[in-house]
Amino acid sequence: MSTKRTVVTGGHVVTMDPSQGELPNGAVLIEDGAITAVAADAEQFAGVDAEIVDATGGIVLPGMVDSHRHTWMALLRAISADQSLLQFLGNTFYGIGSLLSAEDMAAATEVGSLEALDSGITTFLDCCDCVNSPEHARASVAALRSSGARTVYAYGMQAFDYKPAAFASHAERLRDARALRSSEFTSDDPMNAMAMLLSDFGTLPFSDTAAEIRLSTELDILVASHTGAATTSILLRGLRELHDHQLLRPGHLHIHCPALSTPEWRLLADTGAKVSIAPETELQMGMGFPPFRAAIEHGILPGISTDTVACGSGDLFAQMRLGLQTQRALDNDRVHRTGTMPGTVELSVHDALTWATRGSAEAMGLGDRIGSLTVGKRADVIVVKPRWNVVPPSHMAGTVVLQSSAADVDTVIVDGEMRKRDGRLVGVDLAGVRSRATAALERLRTKAAALPTHDANACLGWFAHAERMATANFGAAYPVER
Ligand SMILES: [Zn+2]
Repeated sequence: MSTKRTVVTGGHVVTMDPSQGELPNGAVLIEDGAITAVAADAEQFAGVDAEIVDATGGIVLPGMVDSHRHTWMALLRAISADQSLLQFLGNTFYGIGSLLSAEDMAAATEVGSLEALDSGITTFLDCCDCVNSPEHARASVAALRSSGARTVYAYGMQAFDYKPAAFASHAERLRDARALRSSEFTSDDPMNAMAMLLSDFGTLPFSDTAAEIRLSTELDILVASHTGAATTSILLRGLRELHDHQLLRPGHLHIHCPALSTPEWRLLADTGAKVSIAPETELQMGMGFPPFRAAIEHGILPGISTDTVACGSGDLFAQMRLGLQTQRALDNDRVHRTGTMPGTVELSVHDALTWATRGSAEAMGLGDRIGSLTVGKRADVIVVKPRWNVVPPSHMAGTVVLQSSAADVDTVIVDGEMRKRDGRLVGVDLAGVRSRATAALERLRTKAAALPTHDANACLGWFAHAERMATANFGAAYPVER
């Protein structure tokens, strides 16, 4: 079989590989889906027999990695734009989530995957905490497989208030996750892997949380949880309880984390944890401030994530920008409190770009495969060409992080395959996608019209009840001494 070669040339290459740095006149050689050479001088590949991707005027980067994205909400754009976490949970997550059919799930996953690709995200962790039936999980996996994105499907174990009829017990949900692993994820497929998204800590008996973690270890899959995502609340905590039972394991991906105390951060660092921060939802929903500084101070390179388009942006440009500038404001405020002006800006745009590439790749356990333009890694490569191109950028990483959107993403290559070119998705029947998506949204809207609306007070009452249950659930981690 002949070798399939592509050369990405003519642009400014930001490798995100510390040993290579930036190559203003560089080029990347791709052979059969792998990066086989990165040249500082594009002339090096001048005579190579290859498909040429002309990146002139653009910035060549590794594909971005979204370490926490709920594609099942991709049909519900901005539906929760003015909602708190409690209102979102009561009305969108538990409300509309309970209505989603497997067919709706397929449409949502298709749309969410394409939206990710369109914005330069080549890999994402699909946090599917809407597994209303075994068919829902299979519909997601099939849609992810056909999307062309590199994905890790996180089977959501969340036990819902409304108790989906398809699962008579928590044990059945565990059985289904095990069955999915053995039927759909048998090979070491570099494009599609499985993970488990744990039930939110405190919302179910401690022994059930323990069973989920033990199963993920047995199945040898990534384990992820929404952790410390509600400042002032006991919900989503329980790290000491988990640690006392040897349930905080290396590689566990903790999502959000703004509410964690210093001892809890030490627990994460000491147990080899990973972290993914989703600035936009954290800032909106009262979860707390995105904890980039805390992660860095505890020696954890954070990943970054979009979370859900039910609230904010589905691209990582917005997340990098919000996360970086918020952390800078917090850092500046610390200096202001000493009665002086900050003399420097501590975090750089390069730091933010690291969160969206190497940081998220390592957070998902894929750091040896993706996250930088490094020889031997899989060929996930994007080209950002500033749409406002009447004057060239003075700072390439700065333009990517602070001035770009999905509309500026010119080229997206995943595992050597062209997924977006000249600003358009390749091989996608957008009219067909649109028609499936709008039909699914119509079905959901019709069903949702009959849902009760929970106002802020009702949500606060429900949340307070959940907190009392969490006290009991965490308490069950310890036998009562008499
Ligand atoms: Zn989430």
